[in-house]
Amino acid sequence: MAKFSINDLKDFRNQRVLVRVDYNVPLDENGAITDDKRIKATVPTLDHLVKGGAKVILCSHLDRPKGKRDPKQSLRPVAQRLAEILGRPVAFVDDCIGDKVDKTISIMQPGDIVLLENLRFYAEEEKNDPAFAAKLAQNADLYVNDAFGSAHRAHASTEGAPRIIQKRGGNCVAGLLMEKELAYLGGALSSPARPFVCILGGAKVSDKIAVIEHLLTQADAILIGGAMAYTFLKTQGFGVGKSLVENDKLDLAKSLLDKAKGKKFLLPSDHIQATKPEAGATTRVTDGPSIEDGWCGVDIGPQTIARYNKEIAAARTIVWNGPMGIFEIPEYSKGTFEVAKAVAANKAATSIIGGGDSAKAVKKAGVDKQITFVSTGGGASLEFLEGKELPGVAALSDK
Ligand code: AMP
Repeated sequence: MAKFSINDLKDFRNQRVLVRVDYNVPLDENGAITDDKRIKATVPTLDHLVKGGAKVILCSHLDRPKGKRDPKQSLRPVAQRLAEILGRPVAFVDDCIGDKVDKTISIMQPGDIVLLENLRFYAEEEKNDPAFAAKLAQNADLYVNDAFGSAHRAHASTEGAPRIIQKRGGNCVAGLLMEKELAYLGGALSSPARPFVCILGGAKVSDKIAVIEHLLTQADAILIGGAMAYTFLKTQGFGVGKSLVENDKLDLAKSLLDKAKGKKFLLPSDHIQATKPEAGATTRVTDGPSIEDGWCGVDIGPQTIARYNKEIAAARTIVWNGPMGIFEIPEYSKGTFEVAKAVAANKAATSIIGGGDSAKAVKKAGVDKQITFVSTGGGASLEFLEGKELPGVAALSDK
């Protein structure tokens, strides 16, 4: 179901707008922000709201304080940085519900911005506690969700509060970041230009079962890499040496392979094998899909790179989630980086990176700017690819 976005809101002058953002930024040991890209990413939505005369009430989580107040996980430095970025004042309230918040909001003027303290200082946030959600919602006429990375969680700020605001007749809409995520990920799944090629990698099959099952019904080809390939190869009788394998998932891998019969479901046909999965180990390319006893698979091999890159070059829609090998170690990063470069080189395709490690990989490979869209939500984009409706999206008003 298509959702309203802030572009659909006609007049919100003087309205109090609760905006769920993702300001879960990395901090160093002194509490300084080491990367402010998540703050900068919200600027278009905030500019739009401020220009339209909204009273902007920002809320977010930061890290995992687990229901306890911890000054090291305060959003106060974020308010300062946001004010610098926007070139306008951003007030900070050291709570996210209660009297102080109510008072501050009651004196806000159109165009004012307030950032509330870390939502997760209350355990009720992650429990989606109705009373807590009601307190968050009580000072808002409208709701905007611009935190795609948290939309797969049914928390008070992502699900409970918007439901309450909507019941009162207030619109709950996607921010500009969220709108982009829904357009790209949703578009790829509902009406992809074909061939639609999915590249899946990473450590475990078990994390991606539902994604594979769903994509088998949508994609024209699925290319498998990373350690999860070894679980599939083992079920086919190939040697896996001491590679990372999920031995308790062999039956499941077999049933996925059965479902994939008649489809293009590609597994590596060679690998880089190493004596141990660490930097500086002895390595060699395998002769075929088997890994020798005493060795472990650490990356896809040159023949696999060539096969996969051929599929990628022919694609018109590409979705990628999960690295092809232990890409954090430079000697084992070639497969992941070559795939990243092939995705970036295909200018005729809409290319979408599903966040997390693949987003890091395209950045490390230096090709992130040539990708059509890099999702900001690892877990959320995976659940989207499973075909699930995310609770934080479901809670927004239908078009
Ligand atoms: P995921 O979070 O499931 O996408 O997995 C990402 C992790 O999988 C990365 O940290 C990679 O180092 C790891 N990985 C990918 N390929 C392998 C491999 N062949 N052996 C061990 N770990 C791997």
